[in-house]
Amino acid sequence: SVPAAITSAVSAGARRGLLIKGGAALEAIGSVKTIAFDKTGTLTQGRPQVTDIVPFGVNVGEVLRQAAAVEQGSSHPLAKAILGHAQGLELPAGEDARALPGQAVLATVNGRTLAVGSPRYAQEQGALTPEVKAQAQLLEGQGKTVVALIDGARVLGLLALRDEPRADAREAVAALKALGIRPLMLTGDNARTGQAIGKSLGLDVQAELLPADKLRVIEELKAQGSVAMVGDGINDAPAMAASDVGIAMGGGTDVALETADAALLRAEVGGVVELVQLSRATLTNIK
Ligand code: ADP
Ligand code: MG
Repeated sequence: SVPAAITSAVSAGARRGLLIKGGAALEAIGSVKTIAFDKTGTLTQGRPQVTDIVPFGVNVGEVLRQAAAVEQGSSHPLAKAILGHAQGLELPAGEDARALPGQAVLATVNGRTLAVGSPRYAQEQGALTPEVKAQAQLLEGQGKTVVALIDGARVLGLLALRDEPRADAREAVAALKALGIRPLMLTGDNARTGQAIGKSLGLDVQAELLPADKLRVIEELKAQGSVAMVGDGINDAPAMAASDVGIAMGGGTDVALETADAALLRAEVGGVVELVQLSRATLTNIK
């Protein structure tokens, strides 16, 4: 019977680490036209490492210490990476920290309001000189994420971070295309960085998206057919909720898990391919 076939497919998925929240979710996954992926922590490991520090008029250690002091108030993966890199250093206190999601984090350090944020945010603050901009673009072309330490209208330094793609990401992207699905990367990161990573994985990229922009892109894609959104973070939850099928990547936040229609217990992009295959096989058997 139909319910029995679905129930048995849902338990077969569970045995393979694919958590599907009900028959409707299972049915929907097999007919998506587009699968949108968050970048950080979904297509990539979400553990960026600091690779370069470029100071402007101060020394390298000072850039790292002050950036880390600001990031003490953030739980962003970039914050964790910068704090990890500064481990063992004595940091000044960062007070009154506040986050601008998708842009920057601000804090008061030694009486001055400092920000660590995207080059785009630095530009909006009137702090991006041609010299700093050229340096940022060079690093972004290498697929690195660049953040600026900003003091008022001045960039004190750039920090570049690399986040390696998940081992099976490229293969999974190719498998989805072979199934007739369009894979797409959505990221808040810079366009140059996003394109470099998208090219290496073989999928199209929409970059420089604020959390609300991701939501808008999902709504636009839905006009062309059913859309799944795969993400791991709090900031992905609205886009996942707006999509036809929200899929939470293993190891992500509880909010992503709660919002999702399906979850991958293993942190492998290939789980998405398995979900599509399981859904299609089940529906074929029913029909
Ligand atoms: P993604 O979509 O890749 O997960 P986010 O939307 O979280 O990225 O962030 C987009 C950009 O905003 C980051 O690449 C960075 O430039 C900036 N940003 C956001 N939060 C922080 C932070 N805590 N420290 C430094 N930069 C940040
Ligand atoms: Mg993420």
